[in-house]
Amino acid sequence: MIFIQLNRDIPAGLFSLRRLHRRLSVNHPQFTDINQDLYNSNAGHAGEAYIDSVLSTIHFPIPHILLPNIRIHEKDIPSTQIDILIFTTAYALIIEVKNWSGTISFQQVGQVLQTKDGIVRSMDCPTVQADYYVGNLLDWFAKHDTQLPVHRIVSFPFASTLLIGAENRGIHFAKELPIILRKLNKLPQQLTHYQFQTLSKKLQESNRPFEHATACQKYGIHPSELLKGIFCPKCESRLLKKSNRVYVCSSCLHTPDNPFYDTMIDWFTLVGNQITNRQLRLFAGVDKSYSVGYFMKKSNFPYSGQNKGTIYHVNAEEMHRFLSKKEKACFRE
Ligand SMILES: [Zn+2]
Repeated sequence: MIFIQLNRDIPAGLFSLRRLHRRLSVNHPQFTDINQDLYNSNAGHAGEAYIDSVLSTIHFPIPHILLPNIRIHEKDIPSTQIDILIFTTAYALIIEVKNWSGTISFQQVGQVLQTKDGIVRSMDCPTVQADYYVGNLLDWFAKHDTQLPVHRIVSFPFASTLLIGAENRGIHFAKELPIILRKLNKLPQQLTHYQFQTLSKKLQESNRPFEHATACQKYGIHPSELLKGIFCPKCESRLLKKSNRVYVCSSCLHTPDNPFYDTMIDWFTLVGNQITNRQLRLFAGVDKSYSVGYFMKKSNFPYSGQNKGTIYHVNAEEMHRFLSKKEKACFRE
């Protein structure tokens, strides 16, 4: 039996949004919008993680792979970002996750109305996007000389959301997934193990998870608008200087080995992929260049140049190194 399940990381967009949020003053003109975006992204991630937990309890009698947050980038195929893709020897299933709260009313014209706290908001119907991704995925399979049924559902994680007009539209709560998958798993198998393995590999190779635009570029925020300082990698409170090489958290009393490592990651995700000693000093609000230089060297990020001209930088591989450590290193879920 072939069984592959990948762990879900915090999406890069949410990872940088959390860092942007803590470096913005509540008085910044975009704070309210970014605060809302962060709330939505956190809710989305929590919903997807819950559906992962439901899927992990389901028995699959056929070879399958679960791909969370997969972005399919391939020539001639429109960019496709799928919350959860289940790929098996019998079918592929796209799960579009919507962790929306309140009352969700599905209209006839590709629109939903969300009523929450007495406010009505209009949003695109998630079934339209999911149907579009079905077409893209069928094209992707055709490009790889494969015919495989592609199904889709829109899943709401929690039954506390009130759905109106959702019947017969492929919209389901997470608790319904075991029943849906039991039926799908009885479909006739279309692929040999070899074809399945080859296509699994190709799907993962076409997955390009990193966004190129930094959070500041995305929101049009100049780095000088960001709050300066060094934050605790455990609880996000501010670190206070105890001595040149020791910083302590004002809240949880954590003393990180390298207090500037996390500040460098802030810079790389928010501003750009290279940083000098001077830029880090200004960003961290520290005046001693030699202690900053000591910690930059200790970060083990690649660098070029010498002495005052030293520039530290990250490439995609380095980004992956700290992004894949983020659950433990940077945030508590
Ligand atoms: Zn702390």
